[in-house]
Amino acid sequence: MHVLLIQVDGKLPNLALMKLAHWHRSQGHRVTLIRRRRRDLFDSAYDTVFASAIFSDSNKFFPQIRSDWPNVIFGGTGTANRLTVESLIGKDYEFYDYHDYPDFTESIGFTKRGCRLSCKFCVVPQKEGKPYFLNSINNIWRGAPYPRKLHLLDNDFFGHESWRDHIREIIDGNFHVCLSQGINVRMITTETAEALASIQYRNTAFNRRVIYCAWDMLKDEQVFFTGINKLEKAGIPSSHVRAYMLIGFDKHETWDRIWYRFNRMVERDIEPYAMVFHKPGESPRADLKCFQRWTNRGLYRIVPWADYRRQTKSDESVAAWHRAAA
Ligand code: SF4
Repeated sequence: MHVLLIQVDGKLPNLALMKLAHWHRSQGHRVTLIRRRRRDLFDSAYDTVFASAIFSDSNKFFPQIRSDWPNVIFGGTGTANRLTVESLIGKDYEFYDYHDYPDFTESIGFTKRGCRLSCKFCVVPQKEGKPYFLNSINNIWRGAPYPRKLHLLDNDFFGHESWRDHIREIIDGNFHVCLSQGINVRMITTETAEALASIQYRNTAFNRRVIYCAWDMLKDEQVFFTGINKLEKAGIPSSHVRAYMLIGFDKHETWDRIWYRFNRMVERDIEPYAMVFHKPGESPRADLKCFQRWTNRGLYRIVPWADYRRQTKSDESVAAWHRAAA
């Protein structure tokens, strides 16, 4: 049996595909993992094809993938499909095959799944439910000679009481950790802020100190800054904070409201990171994508927005949007 695994998006290795690769190889099956989204001339005939997407934005690639591999099974948080690896293979499975990512030397995993909150735009609560323990830090690390660098993909690291054990393991094991899915800053306490301050948190490249969190809705301003203040009091400066900023979801959203959130963060030395929401089957708004590029590439520090948008193809759609909103 020859299995094809397609990683549709994401820069980091895809854990669900790593699990599938491990399980299929343990059954003696041949496995090929690709990151392209089109069939090429040299592709074999595959008996089974899985495609995993983590961003909803990636659904634009699905028709092409389905056309090239009609028997494809889609899964991942970027799809409406609630399929899990466990439901496919019929049992819990916490084994990961790094074989298809030979240049990746860090270790990756979840200490917990699930989330205490239930944001309307997010599939995690429906797919994973309330937080539950999954894995210890020592199990996630691949062991020597791999570096003590961990990508922890938890959506709510402090959502389960086992977090204290995980913090202890991180400190005792002298690990550097990247919590790129974001800590739940709206529920941060003095104790959890101090715990974060006590560990070696890093960005995805492990070359900067970064704590990831989110300010998605304007109405959460007070609770967001209460969390930021707690982090700062515990010793984490705002300049270490990168905040995901959902745009395009709130039906009351205006450019004034987007700028308000953006400016509040920038004046506090927080790094905003825009995430554009759009409904499945719809294209994201070009003006918001333009703002996303300007923000996430850090161009806002050097190029005024008016100049940037004038130089981009989205200028017309920005103007159209302003006309419609006026
Ligand atoms: S806090 Fe994050 S993971 Fe939890 S429901 Fe909201 S967006 Fe999803």
